[in-house]
Amino acid sequence: MVGAGPVGMLLAAELARRGVDVHVVERRDQSGGGSRAIGLHAPVLAALEAGGATDRILDRAVRVSRGEARSDGRLLGVVRFDRLSVRHPYVATLPQALTEAALAVGAPEPQRGTTVRRVRVDADEVRLETAGGGGERELSAPIVVMAAGVGARDLVFRPAALARTRYPDRYLMSDADLPPRHDAETAVVHLAAGGVLESFPLPGGRRRFVAWDADGDARDDEPDARLERLRAALRERGEADAAEAVTTATGFRVRRVLAPALRRGRLLVIGDSAHEISPIGGQGMNLGLLDAATLAPLLAVWLRTGREPAADLARWERDRLRSARTAGRMAAVNMRLGRPVSAATHAVRARTLGAALAATGSLVPRAYAMGLDAAAR
Ligand SMILES: Cc1cc2nc3c(=O)[nH]c(=O)nc-3n(C[C@H](O)[C@H](O)[C@H](O)COP(=O)(O)OP(=O)(O)OC[C@H]3O[C@@H](n4cnc5c(N)ncnc54)[C@H](O)[C@@H]3O)c2cc1C
Repeated sequence: MVGAGPVGMLLAAELARRGVDVHVVERRDQSGGGSRAIGLHAPVLAALEAGGATDRILDRAVRVSRGEARSDGRLLGVVRFDRLSVRHPYVATLPQALTEAALAVGAPEPQRGTTVRRVRVDADEVRLETAGGGGERELSAPIVVMAAGVGARDLVFRPAALARTRYPDRYLMSDADLPPRHDAETAVVHLAAGGVLESFPLPGGRRRFVAWDADGDARDDEPDARLERLRAALRERGEADAAEAVTTATGFRVRRVLAPALRRGRLLVIGDSAHEISPIGGQGMNLGLLDAATLAPLLAVWLRTGREPAADLARWERDRLRSARTAGRMAAVNMRLGRPVSAATHAVRARTLGAALAATGSLVPRAYAMGLDAAAR
C-alpha cells in the first residue's frame, strides 16, 4: 500500500481485519495536519460499521440532519437528511485528522519517511523504487494499491491519459470557534449575488466557513488580506456574527481529474490518486473511502485463494469510475449555483432553487449524501 492518508489507512485496516499481511509506505514523517474533509455521508458510515470505525467517528462527530438554503436572511428551502431511509440519516461532521485517527485503528503502523519514486508492474509482482529512510531501496509485493493522493498520479498515469477540468473558481476557508447559536447543528448554504457562503457545524461549537472568492491571482493574497476578504463575505452574505470569530483564512482552487482506469494487472489506484473532486460538494474523501471499503473484500479473496477475482474487479472498477463521474458532476453543479451573478439573476436563481428544493423531495438530500454512489445501492 502506498499512502497513509484516510483512504490508504482504511484499506490497510480492512485488509488487516481480514487476516491479510499489509505493509504501508508513507512519504511524510508524521500524519498530516491541515483541515480538509469534514463530512462523512451515510453509505460511508454504513461501510465502516463492521470494522468499528463508525462508532469511533460518531463518538466525536456532530450529526447534521438538516441543511438550509438561505438568501438575504430568508429561508429558501430545507434539505432533510433525517427523512432519508438509510441506516445513518445524517452527515457526520468532524475534522479530517479525527476521521483519519478513527480509520487507522487496526491498521499496521506505516513505514514513514519513504517516498515511492517509480512503479513497475510485472506478471507476478509489483516493484516500487523508494527513497528515504537511509537511501534508495526496491520493495516488491504481489499486489500494490496506490492511495497516495493527487501528487502521486504521475507515478501511474501518463498526464495525457487523465481527464482534467480546471475551474475558474477560488474559495476562502476557515474553521472557527463561535458563541452558541440556535442553528448549531444545521448546515447552511447562503446564496448571495456576490457568491456562495457555506457554513457547516463542527464538534465543540466550531463551524467551517467556505466563501466564493474573486480571482486570487489578480488580488492581494497575503494572509491578512485573505482574512479581510473572508470577513467581508461573512458580513455581506449572512454570517455577520462570525466575522470577528474567524482568525485565519486559507484559499483553494478547484480541479476535476479522473483517471481512465483504476487497475493495471496487480496495481490498483484509489482515492485522490484516481479522482480529484472539487471540495464544493464535500464528496472527495467519501468517494475514496468507498473505493477502499469495496475493494478490500476482493483483494482479501485474491490473496487468500491465489485466484484473481477478475469479473468482480472489473465490476468494482466500472462502479467506482461511474461514482467518481457522478460526484464530479454534482460538485460542478454546486459550483455553478454558487457563482456571483447580477442582482436580477440572483433573485431568479434564489426563487428557482427554493421551488426546486420544495418539488424534488428526497432527491437533493439523497444526491448530496452520496445516495447516488454505486456503493449506496
Ligand atoms: C479544502 C479541502 C476541503 C475538503 N473537504 C472535503 C469534504 O468536506 N468532504 C470530502 O469527502 N472530501 C473533502 N476534501 C477532499 C479530501 O480531503 C480528499 O479527497 C482526501 O484527503 C483524499 O484522501 P487520500 O487518502 O486519497 O489522499 P491524501 O489525503 O492526499 O493522502 C495521500 C497520502 O499519500 C502520501 N504520499 C503521496 N505521494 C507519496 C509517495 N510518492 N510515496 C509515499 N507516500 C506518498 C501523502 O503524504 C499522503 O499522506 C477536501 C479537500 C480540500 C483540499
